[in-house]
Amino acid sequence: MQEKGLLIVLSGPSGVGKGTVRKEIFSQQDTSFEYSISMTTRSPREGEVDGVDYFFKTHDEFEKLIEQDKLLEYAKFVGNYYGTPVDYVKETLDQGKDVFLEIEVQGARQVREKFPDGLFIFLVPPSLSELKNRIVTRGTETEDVINNRMSVAKDEIEMMNLYDYVVENDQIQRACERIKAIVVAEHCRRERVEPRYIKMLEVE
Ligand code: 5GP
Repeated sequence: MQEKGLLIVLSGPSGVGKGTVRKEIFSQQDTSFEYSISMTTRSPREGEVDGVDYFFKTHDEFEKLIEQDKLLEYAKFVGNYYGTPVDYVKETLDQGKDVFLEIEVQGARQVREKFPDGLFIFLVPPSLSELKNRIVTRGTETEDVINNRMSVAKDEIEMMNLYDYVVENDQIQRACERIKAIVVAEHCRRERVEPRYIKMLEVE
């Protein structure tokens, strides 16, 4: 039987640059995983192509897909639906290929429940690690701004506990390299490799 591919989920707080990092990864020649094109009800932005960037759907079409259980996960984000087509993901994994999802955090939570042995990567803004330092050294922000920043940062840190790896998006190339290295390492994990060897030694 064909060994299944790995489900890779890249998520993280809004505005961290998930889309930019994902596009960079898929523009690189040596990327060996498949991108799962999402469905959305939002309108195409300039230059976006249906079936390449997203599958653009109407509200009714999207709600029908939900009813028919055609989505692995979905979420409403800034007034629009976004979701991952389940058939593509399952078929591609069954072919032994790795599938890469770039989705927001509510969707990632749903995927974790359905695919607990997926690889979940949380992208964080560099400002998170610099936060305290910046706030303390700059000393120019009002108390309200500081409190707001701290509260956003706290939410972001709390979200991390659902993920296997955390990658700082300090520099796009570096973030991409780290993500690719994580995928390589994940393929070498004993829990993933061992069953293959055990099978090899099985005698009829
Ligand atoms: P944008 O409208 O900027 O392309 O995407 C908005 C947000 O939706 C981003 O955070 C992106 O990661 C997320 N997103 C894109 N596709 C999906 C999807 O299939 N499911 C979920 N849950 N979020 C998605």
